[in-house]
Amino acid sequence: MSVSGVEVLIVGAGPAGAALGLELARRGRDVLIVERAQFPRDKPCGDCVNPGAVAELERLGVAGRLRERLAPGQLRGWHVEAPDGRGFRAAFGEGDEGHTLDGWAVRRRDFDAALLEEARRLGARVCFGMRVYDVLRAGERVAGVAGRQGTASREARARFVVGADGLRSVVQRRLGLARRPPRLRKIALVGHLAGSDRDPGFGELHVRGRRTCGYVALPGGGNVTVVISQDEARAIGGAPRDFLSEALSRFPRVWARVSECGLEQDVMVTGPFDRPVRRPWSPGAILVGDAAGYYDPFTGQGIYQALRSARLAAEAIDAALSDPGEERGALRRYGRRMRIEFGPKRGLQRVIEAAVSRPGVMSRCVAALSQREGVAARRLLRATGDLAHPATVLDPQLWLLTFLSTTHDR
Ligand SMILES: Cc1cc2nc3c(=O)[nH]c(=O)nc-3n(C[C@H](O)[C@H](O)[C@H](O)COP(=O)(O)OP(=O)(O)OC[C@H]3O[C@@H](n4cnc5c(N)ncnc54)[C@H](O)[C@@H]3O)c2cc1C
Repeated sequence: MSVSGVEVLIVGAGPAGAALGLELARRGRDVLIVERAQFPRDKPCGDCVNPGAVAELERLGVAGRLRERLAPGQLRGWHVEAPDGRGFRAAFGEGDEGHTLDGWAVRRRDFDAALLEEARRLGARVCFGMRVYDVLRAGERVAGVAGRQGTASREARARFVVGADGLRSVVQRRLGLARRPPRLRKIALVGHLAGSDRDPGFGELHVRGRRTCGYVALPGGGNVTVVISQDEARAIGGAPRDFLSEALSRFPRVWARVSECGLEQDVMVTGPFDRPVRRPWSPGAILVGDAAGYYDPFTGQGIYQALRSARLAAEAIDAALSDPGEERGALRRYGRRMRIEFGPKRGLQRVIEAAVSRPGVMSRCVAALSQREGVAARRLLRATGDLAHPATVLDPQLWLLTFLSTTHDR
């Protein structure tokens, strides 16, 4: 079986693939999204759409419809607790016109299906149940993909191919665009609670030793995510739910909720992380979302990256299809903009990861962040909420004043 003559073929119907399909369909392009799963499907995630991602949904013109359909929980900010039990709470804050800037708490199963539905409404076609395993070439250009749908082999040809196939992207691998194997040897376990909640509005992050635990109240439930080091992963064996329960029991505040509401049967496991790419394009192909390079789930910025990279990719693909002679220039511009926008964000994520993985440093940072009326904490939240440039946090003077006030208060 084969499909031919599609203008843009997108592999993967997560937020990156759906947003790109939507944007290109709106520009009048013929789009086919191929997806290995049947939707709705769950995806390991903390289920937080940060305020920067909500702003991207506004720009895509779908935030209102999604809000109406999903009735997401309000995410006003985070409560962070260090290994020594001290903590701070900070909100994302207010926008220029004084309105509060909130994120959404919504289960990925529902969010991804609703966003994909918007892409279909605007004309993108979707083929479920097709697992892509290779890219097809014509000379040095990518010209389509090969996959399996049930027991049938399928080939789909297109003028442009997009890898929106997530953390372990087949398109990225087959194009040889991975820079190196993953280095962040962390494993995440994600479960859901059947009910919720005492403190809606603020998500929680708890750090104990080298383990972290996130909790977010969702409409009619809750998300619990525990991240462990890869050395411990062997102990998960074939019983991820038992492992997650045991791990959660060491975080008393979250465990109280688990005991009250119960953990759903299915628990998802994923990792390791830190998968950079040499560049997010090849002649005839482009990578978006996690496939274009992903660092660490701790700060919850993946959906923003998926949506923002989709918008940048839509401009590049549209320009390349309108004027094939311009393709290389458009792809290079895309690569440059991705580096400029996401390089500093990864830099900040690295600094945060370095602190979180050292319990003593993390405790000192949290103590410092609760000082000076939370100036540093608010800036940190705005940067990781994709509302402000990371440079606003990586400011030596800010940290000097913050740590000096901690010492002074002792
Ligand atoms: C534990 C954890 C917690 C996280 N928490 C948050 C959070 O709270 N907030 C946040 O913003 N980000 C979070 N992230 C990151 C976020 O989940 C991702 O960045 C985001 O899902 C990326 O979207 P995507 O569309 O690029 O990829 P995905 O959402 O992974 O979608 C990829 C799609 O491609 C399909 N696919 C894959 N391979 C193939 C193939 N070979 N053929 C066909 N289809 C294929 C998959 O089935 C999937 O539907 C978290 C990540 C992890 C691991």
